[in-house]
Amino acid sequence: MSAITAALAAVKARIAEAAVAAGRDPAAVALVAVGKTHPAEAVAEAVAAGQRIFGENRVQEAKAKFPALKAAHPDLELHLIGPLQSNKVRDAVALFDVIETVDRPKLARALADEIARSGRSPRVLVQVNTGREPQKAGVDPDQADALVALCRDVYRLRVEGLMCIPPDGDDPDPHFRLLAEIAARNGLTLLSMGMSGDYPRAVALGATHVRVGSAIFGHRDRAQVTV
Ligand SMILES: *Cc1c(COP(=O)(O)O)cnc(C)c1O
Repeated sequence: MSAITAALAAVKARIAEAAVAAGRDPAAVALVAVGKTHPAEAVAEAVAAGQRIFGENRVQEAKAKFPALKAAHPDLELHLIGPLQSNKVRDAVALFDVIETVDRPKLARALADEIARSGRSPRVLVQVNTGREPQKAGVDPDQADALVALCRDVYRLRVEGLMCIPPDGDDPDPHFRLLAEIAARNGLTLLSMGMSGDYPRAVALGATHVRVGSAIFGHRDRAQVTV
């Protein structure tokens, strides 16, 4: 068994354990395997091990890695988990099945325009900056309801849930709880939260998607990490 295959199995087992401990159905938690900075061969190994949902945080990198994999495995589901610039919207709509990082009206509008033009309609999540960090992407928690309404009612995006990245070094629990609260009051069912360091907590607090990279693919060169 390869290292990636073994790591995938271990992560899935921990997800199931955390779900059961919280009285949740393990099948209600999807694993988004984050292969950013790792080569397409590493992703292909995960695909061979049965993994089908992947996350990438850069449009250009995903464009280099995923078209061939998606052609070979039409059931792959690709999530954009990094910031999206308006000038990359066309590529993003063409390639991604879920865009997890909608965080401003201008981007919502650009997505709506491109969806109307292309006829391809990815599902979207609204990213919430639960820690109100000035340098971090995501809508302010106080403006999340308004942005969700705008995306849904004005731009008719397929908004299914929320995503967050808690501040480094913070206890993630209050951030996961806040995200779940905002989702519940907006009638949204998907919660993308939890990474290698904290996904069991996220599962305990209701995550439907955990985004796990280094625990599956190994460490990344720090210089290439952009969150
Ligand atoms: C890189 C990344 C992850 C995965 O991080 P790990 O700590 O390696 O599991 C999850 N979410 C986002 C938004 C990321 O950029």
